[in-house]
This record gives sequence, C-alpha cells and structure tokens, in this order.
Amino acid sequence: MPQSKLTDRFGRTVNYVRLSVTDRCDFRCVYCMAEDMTFLPRQQVLTLEEIARVARNFVDLGTEKIRLTGGEPLVRKDILELVKEIGTYGLRDFAMTTNGSQLTTMAEPLRKAGMHRLNISLDSLDADKFRNITRTGKLSQVLDGIDAAREAGFRGIKINTVVMKGRNDEEIPELIEFARKKQVDISFIEEMPLGEISEHDRGLALCTSEEVRDIIRKHHELVPATEDSGGPARYYRMEDSETRVGFISPHSHNFCSTCNRVRVTVEGRLLLCLGNEHSVDLRRVLRGNPVTDDKLRETIINAMDLKPERHHFSTNGDVQILRFMNMTGG
Ligand code: SAM
Ligand code: SF4
Repeated sequence: MPQSKLTDRFGRTVNYVRLSVTDRCDFRCVYCMAEDMTFLPRQQVLTLEEIARVARNFVDLGTEKIRLTGGEPLVRKDILELVKEIGTYGLRDFAMTTNGSQLTTMAEPLRKAGMHRLNISLDSLDADKFRNITRTGKLSQVLDGIDAAREAGFRGIKINTVVMKGRNDEEIPELIEFARKKQVDISFIEEMPLGEISEHDRGLALCTSEEVRDIIRKHHELVPATEDSGGPARYYRMEDSETRVGFISPHSHNFCSTCNRVRVTVEGRLLLCLGNEHSVDLRRVLRGNPVTDDKLRETIINAMDLKPERHHFSTNGDVQILRFMNMTGG
C-alpha cells in the first residue's frame, strides 16, 4: 500500500476516510436529528458506484482506513455490494458505525463481505429510556444485534454511548458492566452541537468525559492504555477485564493536532473537519464530463490545503454547525 499522499498545511497526514452512505435512518436520536426530518432527494445522493470510486481513489492516495457511516448505513439498499467492493481494496482497517438495528440479519453477511470491525451505538439499557432517546428504536433488537455481531466473529466491537445529563448519565455503571460481560470496548462521547435540536438543552445536558470517568472510578480503577488509538478517543483499561473504556471529548480535550481523518458526506462533499464547514464538492467532479480518476485525485489532494487547524465547539450548547450529524457521518 502506498504511503499517504495526503498531507495538510499543518503537517498532518490524512490516511483515514469516513464515508457517509446515506442520510436516512430508522432511528431519530434526539441529539442527532429533528423528529420530522426531510431527507435528501435521491439524485443528490451519491450512487454506490460513485462512493466506491471515491473510496478507491482515496486508497490509491494512501488511505489505510475507511469507515462507513451515515445516517444508518445498513438501511441503504444494496449496501453489501459496496462493502464487498471496498473489501477488496486491501485496507488495514475497514469498519462501520451502526445503530445495530439490522445486525441480526446483517452481521454475518457483513463479516463475509470483508468488513473488519463494527462500532455499535447504545445509549441506554432501559427499554423506555432507549425509546425516548432514539424516538423509534427498540432496545431488544439492538441487543440481539450486538450478540449477532459477536457470533458472526467480529473482533474489536465497540459500543458508542453519547452521555447526556438527565437522560442516561445514571446508567454509566450498568453500561460498563454490559461491555465487560459482552467482552466489547465502550466509548463515551460528549454531545456535539451539530444541528438544531429541541428536546434538551445541550449546554445543560453536557456530561464531560471527566465527569464520566469520576463515575466509573467509583467502581473500577482505570489505567490509561499504553497503545495509541490513532484517533480522538483516549482509552483506559480495567485490571480484571479485556474491555477498554474510551472517551471522546470534543469539548474538554482537543484532539485536532493529531487529526488524520476527513469525511465525505452522502452528497459527495469532502469535509475536512467535523467542526468546520470547509469542504470541496466531489460530486461535481464525479458527475463532470469527462470523469477521470486523475481529476478526482487532484481535487482530493488540493482539498487538503483547506483542512482547518482545529475546531472550536463552545460548551453552552449553542449550535455552531447547522448540518446534523446524520449528514456528516459520525
Ligand atoms: N446510525 C449510526 C449510529 O448511530 O451508530 C451511524 C451514524 S451516527 C451519526 C454515528 C455516531 O455519531 C453515533 O455513535 C452517534 O451516537 C453519534 N452522534 C450523533 N449525533 C451526535 C452529536 N450531536 N454529538 C455526539 N455524537 C453524536
Ligand atoms: Fe440514526 Fe445514528 Fe443519528 Fe441515531 S445517531 S438518528 S441511529 S444516524
């Protein structure tokens, strides 16, 4: 695999791409979407062939890691075809972030199609609270999905939990015990101000990673993990378990200096930073005449100059980025 040809003005090498494959979802998580969302018209959404072409060109430029996300990637029709295609690119790491609702039927086909790892979102182990947070989700379906992923032989499964005061902060110890029992990792995420939401005040609901750590430490000693996660999560280990506990702290710990990733939205916008709007329109290139891989790669290489030095999220809950997370691909 070639060394990454993608470096930005601050000397950071980009070798990780997150591709959003749909803005649609079967859930309506309160921190991610409005209740009545309008989704994109189909012609504005990249086709699976266009997404694969973007992926292949990133790999040609030295990308070693691709994550498929959304929206809910498993509600995209024929997603397995895309997974099979990208599965042939010889990536060091090929992963998906999913809400888990389709995994009872999809885990095994995904594994067979070449997917390496899964991150599964789970914010509550209480069926009513789970329903409140996701608005439409059914807890038992996701729990079965997590079991299906384990049975399909996925290693390195990680649970993602967005912690919100008054909604699920009391469940942190139970979620840790769940992760230990299932022998999976778990990351706690600070809610980010993406998209305007109405169901809670993000400033008041913010539960910092420091606060989450203090709660866990009442039950388990946490020792910083020595291995480098290569991402924004800072990992800890517990003495008596293989489970790693991660913290993604966009507010309280700025991880921008080591950022190695970019995102491509479902409309083909190459987004250089989650917390800024700097972007380049790849769809225009993909649908230009003639479409050439050289032009696509040149556009991607030049876009690196737009990668901003850092994001600036304030903690008062004010929206700074109008696009919702389902557009961006978390
Ligand atoms: N539907 C899939 C899922 O939920 O895992 C993938 C897409 S979702 C946008 C990716 C991740 O972003 C999820 O773990 C979700 O909890 C997280 N997320 C969504 N909105 C967020 C926000 N405003 N702040 C922090 N994390 C958020
Ligand atoms: Fe859907 Fe994931 Fe957003 Fe929840 S976080 S609404 S599951 S895209």
